Amino acid sequence: MSSTLPLLPTTVIGSYPRPKWLREALRLRSTGRMKEEELREAFDDSVQVVLREHGLAGVDVPTDGEMRRDEMVEFFAERLGGFKFYGPVRVWGANYYRKPSVVSKVSYREPMLVDEFKYASSVSYTPNLKVTITGPYTMADWSYNEYYKSKEELAHDLAKVMNAEMKSLVEAGAKVIQVDEPAIHTHKSEVDWAVHVVNESVKGINVKVVLHVCYGDYSIIFPKLNELLVDQVNLALKNYDYEPIKLLKRYRIEKEIGVGVIDVHTNRVETPDEVAKDLNRVLKYLDYLPPHKFWVNPDCGLKLRPRKVAFEKLKSMVNGTLALRSRLKSTEEPTLKPLFSR
Ligand SMILES: [Zn+2]
Repeated sequence: MSSTLPLLPTTVIGSYPRPKWLREALRLRSTGRMKEEELREAFDDSVQVVLREHGLAGVDVPTDGEMRRDEMVEFFAERLGGFKFYGPVRVWGANYYRKPSVVSKVSYREPMLVDEFKYASSVSYTPNLKVTITGPYTMADWSYNEYYKSKEELAHDLAKVMNAEMKSLVEAGAKVIQVDEPAIHTHKSEVDWAVHVVNESVKGINVKVVLHVCYGDYSIIFPKLNELLVDQVNLALKNYDYEPIKLLKRYRIEKEIGVGVIDVHTNRVETPDEVAKDLNRVLKYLDYLPPHKFWVNPDCGLKLRPRKVAFEKLKSMVNGTLALRSRLKSTEEPTLKPLFSR
């Protein structure tokens, strides 16, 4: 596999809208009118559809759209030892999710993402596939802790089990792993140990490691970004009209930066021209970083947008990037290799 990529490699954050028929299949399965095996087939088919759409849009580093995951904490909590579910809790508006409780020591039972990674690889248009995994801090923050003395203690144990999962993924051939930590900047008083916990979770993971951070108070986490043992940080920026790049510059963040150029909270489709101009503005402002250190992505997962809108947004992202790529000069190329040993 070639480890070089074009300048400004395009990627996705992970989730993509589930086809309507997959949602129907899940409904049928929940009422016993579809067999487990048939549902698996529907999941597999939907992964093919997602990869086909990512490929048609021209995304350089796709994912499988997280078709098999209802929710980013629940999926793992259901598969690890130590968790229990009592029932759905209301989170915002009329949205409910099943918040897990930790009732005993968390433990790693078996690989959780390896089969889905292998399936996606077998049908992918590119070997440059990314796998996403929820990070230990967000897992701890979004669970009830009914066992450990502190959230910190729980998060450290979660770092160990997520590390075991990442090792399984590397063994299965994963070349890019993205750790999702949307909660990492929720509590200012916890961010110091949260960084340690993330670093513990990626120890010994010597493939490309990306950290995804999105909505929230960036001033809490940005001063710590250089301490994180990850190669790249990808961020929601479009939604903030790129204001946070001032902080990136102020703290001279030396990581590769995944620039969020697509707002996932609106159905308005950005134009390619807008994407090219935005990217150009970011690269010019962050002129202390060489061009090969920039990647391009939407702000966050696209799962809540209508499928057609998600696809159009990806196409604009890629076409806008292509326009700037053709004008950009660089002595070095972006790489899929890790930038340092962990
Ligand atoms: Zn996000």
